[in-house]
Order: sequence, then C-alpha cells, then structure tokens
Amino acid sequence: MNLHEVFTRFPDQQSCIDHLEAIRFKNGPYCPQCGCADPDKVRRSNLKSRVGRWNCHDCKSSFNVLSKTPLSGTHIPLPRWFAVLALMVNAKKSLSSHQIARDLGLTQPTALFMQERLRAVMASDQAGLLGGIVEADETYVGAKRRKKNKRDDFPHGGQGKSDKTPVVGAVSRGGKVVAKVANDTKAKTILNFIRSNVSPAARFVVTDESSAYHGVRGLWPHSVINHSRQYVNGPVHTNTIEGFWSLLKRAWYGSHHKYTVGRMPLFVAEAAWKYNHREDACPWDSFLNGLFA
Ligand SMILES: [Zn+2]
Repeated sequence: MNLHEVFTRFPDQQSCIDHLEAIRFKNGPYCPQCGCADPDKVRRSNLKSRVGRWNCHDCKSSFNVLSKTPLSGTHIPLPRWFAVLALMVNAKKSLSSHQIARDLGLTQPTALFMQERLRAVMASDQAGLLGGIVEADETYVGAKRRKKNKRDDFPHGGQGKSDKTPVVGAVSRGGKVVAKVANDTKAKTILNFIRSNVSPAARFVVTDESSAYHGVRGLWPHSVINHSRQYVNGPVHTNTIEGFWSLLKRAWYGSHHKYTVGRMPLFVAEAAWKYNHREDACPWDSFLNGLFA
C-alpha cells in the first residue's frame, strides 16, 4: 500500500473505521469488554467522535473498533495513522519523525508519538522460535563515529564500545530475525537470549569465535567462524545477521542518531519487524491484520 493508495482508499475517518471493522469483526461484531456478540451500532451522527461507535447492552459499555488496542482513544484522525504507517513500512531504512512531520503536515512531536506507538505494536510481533540454521551475533549501535576528534567519541577509553548500546540478535537463515537491546554482552546474557529465541530443534547455531558463545555448544551443534581467519566456510558464516546489522545501523545513523539511546529498543523492533515482513505481499496489510485480526 503506497501513500497514494492510502489517500485514495481511505480519505476520511469512516472509510478507515470500515476497513478496520472488516478486519476485526470479520466473524461478526463483538464487545471487546465482555465478548458479547450482539452489540448495536450507534446511528451515524455528524459528530466525528461518534463515528464507528457501538453499544453493548450486556455490559452497558460503549466502544469502537479501536477499543482495547494500542490506538484506543486516539484523537489523531485515522487517515493520518494509515499514512504514517504507509510511510514507515515502505521506507527501506527508517524515516525520522522530522521527515514524517514534513511529509504529512504534522508537528514533529506528534509524528514521533505516532511512530513510537506503531513501533510498540511491531515490538509485540512474535517471530516464534528460530529453527533451521541459526546465526547469532551481537553488535553496538549508537554514538556516531566522527572523522575528527575520534578520541572524543570514546571518552572512557577502551575500544570505543563503552558509549554505544549493545544489541543481541539471532536469525534463522532464510527466515526471521530476533534482535533486542541488551544491558551487556556477557556470556550469560547472550546465552539467555539465544535460549529464549532459538528452537531446541534448530539444526545448528553459527557464531563468531567470541568466548561469549561457548555455552551454545552444550545446547545445539555449534559452528564457529573465526573472523580473524575467514568470513565464510561453506555454510558456516554469519553474513545473514551481519546484513541485518548493517540495515539497522544505516537506518540509525541515517535518521536517528540525534535521538537518545532510550528510543533504541523500539527502533530495533521496527527494523526487525520490517525484516520479518520483507516478503509479505503488503506489509501495511500485515501490520493491520496483526493488530486487529
Ligand atoms: Zn459488553
């Protein structure tokens, strides 16, 4: 769904409500409070806020198709939400809130609020346990390395990792990725992450030679690629997860480096969601189906 299609198909609040009701109530309307399957639609009025309102006679509540979803109670018109979603899922990397604000005539705080809300939905999308050949790795995202004054980027000394945010990830080759911001990259943290996200039946797990991955070998067949010697040894490589890291970093450095690292978990969730839905016929539909179906 591109922006033009969104504007054409969903020009007003009613058309958006109709679309979402078709998804959420495809087996008939129900009350999100009590589950009653016999609510009454409130007759259309000119008041915008009454659009798509339903009454439940069982629990005496009033609701609309957004009730009990992350968009519940929003005062932002739905055509705006639909458009922001289209811009986000169609952007190869990621769009800054400033860019979205300029494109859609929103204030930057509103654009950021909407992006973060949609990212939170993306974060709740479960990739399931990864199977097949799984690559696991960690990386650091954050402080932008400048050409001048390189020393200032690493005020704590060391290898320049201290002021960056660690992100751990695992990807099923040809399948989905799971990635999240971590407090550290200690062996225990990494192993816990891998255990929670990789199926016990995975064929084997590929990592680099870091000692943080030594615990993997007791749980899965473990293939190690020693990056000081080579990057690919037949099926033993971490190129898939490296590809995801490179997407993530280009997106971050391209448009988000001004943000605090506090926003990074949701930013990582957006990158992972896009990766996991890269082959969907229409990721825009996938998002709404995931949220409302
Ligand atoms: Zn009810």
